[in-house]
Amino acid sequence: MTNYLVVGSGLFGSTFAYEVAKRGNRVKVIEKRDHIAGNIYTKEVDGIQVHQYGAHIFHTSNKEIWEYINQFAEFNRYTNSPVANYKGEIYNLPFNMNTFNKLWGVVTPAEAQAKIDEQRQVLGDKKPENLEEQAISLIGTDIYQKLIKGYTEKQWGQKATELPAFIIRRLPVRLTYDNNYFNDTYQGIPIGGYTQIIEKMLASDLIDVETGVDFFDQKQEYIDQYDKVIFTGMIDQFFDYQLGELEYRSLRFETEEMDVDNYQGNAVVNYTDAETPYTRLIEHKHFEFGKGDKNKTIVTKEYPANWSRGDEPYYPINNDKNNRLYKAYRDLAQTEPKVVFGGRLGQYRYYDMHQVIHAALQVVKDELKD
Ligand code: FAD
Ligand code: UDP
Repeated sequence: MTNYLVVGSGLFGSTFAYEVAKRGNRVKVIEKRDHIAGNIYTKEVDGIQVHQYGAHIFHTSNKEIWEYINQFAEFNRYTNSPVANYKGEIYNLPFNMNTFNKLWGVVTPAEAQAKIDEQRQVLGDKKPENLEEQAISLIGTDIYQKLIKGYTEKQWGQKATELPAFIIRRLPVRLTYDNNYFNDTYQGIPIGGYTQIIEKMLASDLIDVETGVDFFDQKQEYIDQYDKVIFTGMIDQFFDYQLGELEYRSLRFETEEMDVDNYQGNAVVNYTDAETPYTRLIEHKHFEFGKGDKNKTIVTKEYPANWSRGDEPYYPINNDKNNRLYKAYRDLAQTEPKVVFGGRLGQYRYYDMHQVIHAALQVVKDELKD
């Protein structure tokens, strides 16, 4: 039997804890927030599941991961179809025939493709090297100007010409009339919210959970006390920033209850102009098809924010400079054989939930080999 300490009760730490406890090992989970579940935390208000840290839609093409998460909750058939609001003009996302038709009046895929090809000529033969060039190369200059530039530069606080191309490759571009934001085979929202998933993962008698506790208050004591530590906080903070600071992007959420049944007619609306200070406005009841109080709705505005020490580090900024520094920290981690670094912050990766579960199950496999 191994005595584990898991730092962080998000999806990574909780998946790990669940799996090793199932095999008879003891786990202590410490969490610095006053609740479990990390960024997938949801809370019921007026019968509506509120996604406290931004819209979370589960999606994957990996059947094993889909079946894995379905052990802990039943999922509804929610399909993410956000709309973009550019100065009052409404466009469908991701970029598809509905978007192209509204913008250019084109009707067939061939007409849309011709328009994109014409607009991407501005790049000549240049291979896209940054987000702006990548976006123009994928869907042309009009969509870049109306639906990408403003949103992206607000979201990341940097010029699109300075951002890595991979960020925009997350979004599908389709020559079909399909508003499904994801290409994955499986997708949905857990009925009753995400927190129950983490509660079930941590329910074992072999798991002891303590919230409101920061690992750094007693770092060395913790490391000495346990056989193994799974650390899902910031890897640069673990090493006291000795090689320098990694960069993160933070967010501020502004949540409001309104006395109307239906405020915006969709779960997610992206404000893609540069002037509106928030990126997304989410109306939580639409994730569960209008469930909850008929005279109330809850909406959340998501404001991007600079990160500095002490703020919540929601997004790693995976540009070349930060990736190089992260690699140096990963090498340094070899000097801490008792500690495994995992999750969005421990591995400094723009991971979605399905990837986090996959990565945690891989660590479990490696762990149980010993
Ligand atoms: P976290 O959830 O961040 O958990 C880490 C935990 O460690 C936190 O609870 C933190 O408080 C705790 N911790 C950190 N340091 C310490 C310390 N020193 N001591 C004690 N505790 C500590 N993914 C999708 O698949 N679909 C989506 O639609 C989606 N939307 C998203 C929207 C937003 C706005 C954001 C920010 C993310 C989104 N994600 C989405 C990604 C998803 O949130 C992550 O993949 C997942 O939550 C990461 O889990 P984790 O355990 O690695 O990290
Ligand atoms: N993006 C955009 N316009 C949109 C939506 C997304 O330009 O309306 C860009 C933006 O750069 C964003 C990236 O695409 O950071 C990835 O979008 P996604 O919806 O995956 O963002 P996340 O949910 O990870 O914040």
